[in-house]
Amino acid sequence: MTVTRFAPSPTGHIHIGNLRTALFNWLIARKAGGTFILRLDDTDPERSKEEYADAIREDLEWLGLTWDREERQSLRLDRYAEAADRLRDAGRFYEAFETPGELDLKRKKQLNMGRPPVYDRAALGLDEDERARLRAERGDGVWRFRLDHERIEWADGILGPVSIDAASVSDPVLIRGDGQILYTLASVVDDSEMGVTHVVRGSDHVTNTATQIQIMAALGHGHPDFAHHSLLTGPQGEALSKRLGTLSLRQLREAGLEPMAVLSLMARLGSSDPVELRGSLDELVEGFDVARFGAAPTKFDPADLEPLTARVLSARPYADMAGTIRAAGVPDAIAPAFWEAVRENVGTRARIAPWWHLFRDGPDPQVAPEDRAFVDEAMALLPPHPYGEDAWGEWTEAVKARTGRKGKALFMPLRRAVTGLERGPDMATVLPLFQVPLR
Ligand code: GLU
Repeated sequence: MTVTRFAPSPTGHIHIGNLRTALFNWLIARKAGGTFILRLDDTDPERSKEEYADAIREDLEWLGLTWDREERQSLRLDRYAEAADRLRDAGRFYEAFETPGELDLKRKKQLNMGRPPVYDRAALGLDEDERARLRAERGDGVWRFRLDHERIEWADGILGPVSIDAASVSDPVLIRGDGQILYTLASVVDDSEMGVTHVVRGSDHVTNTATQIQIMAALGHGHPDFAHHSLLTGPQGEALSKRLGTLSLRQLREAGLEPMAVLSLMARLGSSDPVELRGSLDELVEGFDVARFGAAPTKFDPADLEPLTARVLSARPYADMAGTIRAAGVPDAIAPAFWEAVRENVGTRARIAPWWHLFRDGPDPQVAPEDRAFVDEAMALLPPHPYGEDAWGEWTEAVKARTGRKGKALFMPLRRAVTGLERGPDMATVLPLFQVPLR
């Protein structure tokens, strides 16, 4: 049984990079008919906020990435304490008392000597009395996992064979001095106890994965299949950051972008397959293979979502859009005709209302000085409001006969006068939508 999880910390809004992680794990579970778990990594009581947990659920729901079960690490602290005891009993856990300043100094010294800044395990040499003295002076220490200094290897679903020398990695701190369980321990316990079979996450987790494999083994567990996707950068290669909120999913939603546009791009960007607009989540599942993704950083330009969104919307039947169109203020009686006329030209949902305002209030006519006399002459020939289906054809015939203009020179100034725009829908469908006379 395939089990995957998406494990955000509810300490901020999720951004497009997190979405990639969520989507890949979701696709793997759905493709295998398995289970997808939403796991809130909320062991940090100060930074975890309920409003962010709600926002994460809302963002996933917007995209249609449904989860079979939700887990919260804050409700499983006893499990982590139990695992910590087992690591202690196995002699793989030790208390260390260095202050952050002392650790920093050690790192600087190592770097100065051209050595990697790996924790020197000084605390392993402390005897019972020294530990008691330090504890009395400084309070409880942190708990570090003692890595076995050997190579840690796994077959990564994206990176291929990975081999990391454990001696090049500091013994990870799993519990803070104040008793707070840190992500690594909680995640290892959860992945093992929840039967997670596949973990896809960002390549910033590769070293974590190495240590987690050893911790899982120390607790008597095998490890899931791991795949590390490349990190997304902005169009110029700049880093995306969750806390800055850059390109958060809610910003994309507020900008009127369509979930299927976002998902279609994300299911392909950075892979060897071309981006294809998919009509449904099922189609995305069908075409997905995590092995097709590459290790190189993946550039993401939010501007690419706009043409995809425009294509999603132009294919939407009125029935799917009725609610949005009504919310934009379009009266039901003309809403289907309105959608037929504008759907190829809305771009994003956010631009539905401006189209309606044009028809409700009339245009802000754009007339070039050299066309002013022509447009005045033409407007005098406009049939009376309300405009029927044939109004545009009759009007332009009459204008052509009177002025001798034809083709673009005829149509373009009239379009600009009537809609205020250079381009847009078929004018024959546009004219009958005007609720006010144009002259
Ligand atoms: N809470 C971790 C993060 O957001 C989860 C990483 C993982 O998938 O294990 O980075």
